[in-house]
Amino acid sequence: MSFIVAIDGPAGSGKGTVAKLVGEKLGLVNIDTGAMFRCVALKMLQDNIALDDEENIKKILDSINIELKNDNGNLIILLDGNDVSLKIRTEEVSKFVSPVSTNPMVRRNLLNLQRKVSEGKNIIMEGRDIGTVVFPNADVKIYLEATAEERAKRRVLQNQEKGLKVDYDEVLREIKIRDERDSTREIAPLKKADDAILIDSTNMTIEEVVKCISNIIKEKKNT
Ligand code: C5P
Repeated sequence: MSFIVAIDGPAGSGKGTVAKLVGEKLGLVNIDTGAMFRCVALKMLQDNIALDDEENIKKILDSINIELKNDNGNLIILLDGNDVSLKIRTEEVSKFVSPVSTNPMVRRNLLNLQRKVSEGKNIIMEGRDIGTVVFPNADVKIYLEATAEERAKRRVLQNQEKGLKVDYDEVLREIKIRDERDSTREIAPLKKADDAILIDSTNMTIEEVVKCISNIIKEKKNT
């Protein structure tokens, strides 16, 4: 039987970094579902497909190949065989991905993929609706939060480290728009599951959050 840890929360709450570190520490496969939505958004941008072009979106979903690989502790995202780990993090994709993720056909398709790649594995999956929709029976559910300002600050630093130039005000504005859209959409909105443990990471270091979540998981495993 597989063991499932679900981590949900808004953009920039630290889910990605934390899921990767906790996964490494406890031997759980890390699955970044945001990266999957970003791949669909990138492909639509590359092929010039409009948000309401259902026919071509369907064609993309039928043919797209998304793979998440672990390369020496780094998560590599392959879209149709090409490494798009950096390309999916640009501001252009970040802006486009939120409306793309409101499309029911896109959500249905990626939901199936998320469940399929998890089969038989011990996983830590991060996203917006993992504890509520994808794995409502997950063994551990965490909802990670932080203020929008703190999250924007972190995203700017993260992108700078990757060599991407970003403006704080622009990132903050985009985060607020994304929060609003992700939490008010009809299907699978960003929402804390009733039985999820809330962690506010605004004043916590990454190490503290990793420790806190690791302890919760270890405790659950021992029960
Ligand atoms: O986590 P990340 O910021 O990379 O996610 C990008 C976008 O993908 C989110 O803003 C959200 O619109 C969408 N998403 C989603 N459901 C998930 C993961 C991401 O709707 N489980």
